[in-house]
Amino acid sequence: AAKKQGWNQARLYFEAMASELAERLRVEQELRQALREGTIMPYYQPLIHLADGSVHGFEALARWRDRTGEFVPPSLFIDIAENAGLITELFDQLLRRACRDAVTWPSSMILAFNLSPTQLSDSLLGERIVEILQETGLPPERLEIELTESAVVKEMDCAMRVIGDLRRIGIKIALDDFGTGFSSLSQLANIPFDKIKIDRSFVASFETNAKQMKIVRSIVGLGQGLGAATLAEGIELESQYKGLTLLGCEFGQGYLFAKAMPADEVAAFLAGSRGERLASEPFKRTA
Ligand code: C2E
Ligand code: MG
Ligand code: MG
Ligand code: MG
Repeated sequence: AAKKQGWNQARLYFEAMASELAERLRVEQELRQALREGTIMPYYQPLIHLADGSVHGFEALARWRDRTGEFVPPSLFIDIAENAGLITELFDQLLRRACRDAVTWPSSMILAFNLSPTQLSDSLLGERIVEILQETGLPPERLEIELTESAVVKEMDCAMRVIGDLRRIGIKIALDDFGTGFSSLSQLANIPFDKIKIDRSFVASFETNAKQMKIVRSIVGLGQGLGAATLAEGIELESQYKGLTLLGCEFGQGYLFAKAMPADEVAAFLAGSRGERLASEPFKRTA
């Protein structure tokens, strides 16, 4: 009986694997079509100066609706794009669109854009970004490329080369999801970066967990020591906003301010957020 049960489990396991594979193949086919049709869009989530609630810029986040009109999570389709060799095409399309949008924003505002880990081995990356910047007219100083701490640590040599190339062009570098990637202090001392994005998990827990609070304080101090700004991801509560401001964190983003919005809603968002200033009363927006 035990043997039979083992075979059954194996069969169920392989059936589950096969259906997952079929699902990924289906998404891959749809993704190819979406790239041909250009229907994957950057949405924009505001990055906020915590001290006064003003807008520092926007992070572009890829949004794709499949045939049924449902949003496909970026974590899923980016992973599939990477494995199917489609990430370069996706990146170029989205970055070009995002730069075109960003030149219409006030010139003080930056565009933050995520780079996939696999793109670290793309030796033509810098050239293509320069082309897109020239074509769209976005000054390199207004572009901030986000790389996760874990991607940088995993591919240290590639990351150093890419980061060096991009910074020579004038592009800024942010370390994304910081605190989850286990970089060492000697690695951090060697990587030139402009901003640390404190992972959402710390923001969610620092108010109730004294150790997490101390870690956030240390990351802010580390940023200050290394000449990098700090931004807290995933701020959902006013108490988190206040707490992070007290801890010396300079920037933040999260649902408390706004979710990622389509390009044509940015102007109205900026018009509405003007004049709304924080401290006693942080501005709040629900999407
Ligand atoms: P990320 O770069 O760390 O982006 C922040 C994620 O946190 C976004 O999820 C955003 O919607 C979400 N978020 C922001 N504020 C809050 C909050 O207050 N609460 C909660 N619960 N979540 C919040 P999203 O858009 O689903 O993206 C997930 C990840 O997918 C991104 O994480 C990034 O790694 C990747 N990604 C998204 N767009 C792109 C892209 O165009 N290219 C690449 N390579 N990766 C992308
Ligand atoms: Mg990011
Ligand atoms: Mg992040
Ligand atoms: Mg994240």
